[in-house]
Amino acid sequence: RLFNLVQELRGNIRVLCRVRPALDFEENDVVVRFPQDGAVELRNAKGREKSWEFDHVFKSDADNAKVFEQVSDLCTSILDGYNVCIFAYGQTGSGKTHTMEGPEHDRGVNFRALDRLFANMRERNHGGEWEFEVQVTLLEIYNEQIRDLLADKAKQQQQKKLEVKAGKHGMHVPGLTMVTVTDHTQVLRLMKLGKKNRSVACTDMNSHSSRSHSMLSTYVLARNTLTGEEARGKLHLIDLAGSERVSKSGVQGARLTEATNINKSLSALGDVIQARANKQGHVPFRNSTLTYLLQDSLSQDSKTLMFVQVSPVKTNAEESFCSLNFAARAR
Ligand code: ADP
Ligand code: MG
Repeated sequence: RLFNLVQELRGNIRVLCRVRPALDFEENDVVVRFPQDGAVELRNAKGREKSWEFDHVFKSDADNAKVFEQVSDLCTSILDGYNVCIFAYGQTGSGKTHTMEGPEHDRGVNFRALDRLFANMRERNHGGEWEFEVQVTLLEIYNEQIRDLLADKAKQQQQKKLEVKAGKHGMHVPGLTMVTVTDHTQVLRLMKLGKKNRSVACTDMNSHSSRSHSMLSTYVLARNTLTGEEARGKLHLIDLAGSERVSKSGVQGARLTEATNINKSLSALGDVIQARANKQGHVPFRNSTLTYLLQDSLSQDSKTLMFVQVSPVKTNAEESFCSLNFAARAR
């Protein structure tokens, strides 16, 4: 309870920093320190030091179970009708996918959040007073275009260009595959299917996933069987494109388009979050497909959690500086 109260006072944007462990060959190159709880310090190549504070800082030894402790209360908010957005930001190789998807022996936020969400529904429904309807979508945004990851190749080819629309129940994508689910293991199956569909179209999955955002969205409708009262909440779980600044010199054509679009949507996301943190009147949601789709989930009355993912080593220090500065703007 105290924890929740503290969170309320802090506002609805929570920023958590996670530093991934150094790989064996990187161990002599670590430039990250943890001066005190909730703080991280970095030394760049020129020996300049800077420190940042966040709502929580996870050192390299934190596993996904530990990380989820700082996330789980948001799964209750969804049943109260909140829209919740959780995303992982950072350069390629900093651990975004490890945090969101996780390995089989230590599943990430996606799986744990849905597991908790369904557990919360069972708990609430104890007296048979509430019924819930849960639907899931899985998409990626690549070059500002939406691709349905729950559609196979044949269906994708039939689909008209998928666009974001504002509807009665908020932002949505007409034509996108929505699957009704009744437990989290079904969602796990959908995640696997999405991964398969995602990899079909590309020759190099690693570089593709570093250039596109992937988003697992869960739509919950809660209905009180006695009063008829309804509440709708959404949960968006997003593994963002790599934040590394792609050099525009020497690249042309498709690579240049990609680089421009990645920068565009990540800076649009930064602008939206900053405008909200500063309680500015105008929030520029429409500048990218990602922020437009999230318009009703990144607004003042929704809850946002950002992981800023950091590599601990010297060769990545410049990018880590940029990521930490980006995340610091959100608070
Ligand atoms: P990204 O999605 O940001 O490109 P990944 O999640 O793929 O990065 O992580 C890069 C590599 O580092 C992977 O091999 C991953 O297993 C490993 N890794 C990342 N974070 C952790 C962690 N917290 N613990 C153990 N290994 C990690
Ligand atoms: Mg990844």
